[in-house]
This record gives sequence, C-alpha cells and structure tokens, in this order.
Amino acid sequence: MILMNINYLEGIFLEDENIVHMCPRCGEKNIIIYEESIECTVCQLEFEKKDIKVLEKSLILGISEKLEFIRSILGENKNG
Ligand SMILES: [Zn+2]
Repeated sequence: MILMNINYLEGIFLEDENIVHMCPRCGEKNIIIYEESIECTVCQLEFEKKDIKVLEKSLILGISEKLEFIRSILGENKNG
C-alpha cells in the first residue's frame, strides 16, 4: 500500500492531538495542513504545529505575527 509522505508524517505527529487539525485562533476546521504548520482558511494565518502542541491557545501566534513581534523588539518599526 502506498501512502503519501505527508499523511505518514501527520500520522506520527498527530498521534493523539487532533487539536492540530483546527485553527488555534478561531477553531476553524477547514485548514490547510503542511508538514510543519497549518494555515487557517478563515484567519489566513499560518501557525507552526510545534507551537500548537506546547502553548496555550491564547499564546499561539501566527508566523506573520511572530515576525511582527520580532521586528518590534528589534526597534525596526518604521512608520511608512
Ligand atoms: Zn482561524
């Protein structure tokens, strides 16, 4: 039997955590699942699976949000 790689990886990764199958922000289940992240079709935010596994939902930031956060720390907040 032939399985696609991504299904195989998800099978391992998601063993007991169906939570990765929904958006941590809005709970939407219509999400795109990548190897290491998921993308919500509603929020249009991408979240890393490793974050979803270890963090409280309220603490999980989307990848783009994390980048903004890092930029603000580095003081590169340019207005315009
Ligand atoms: Zn969402």
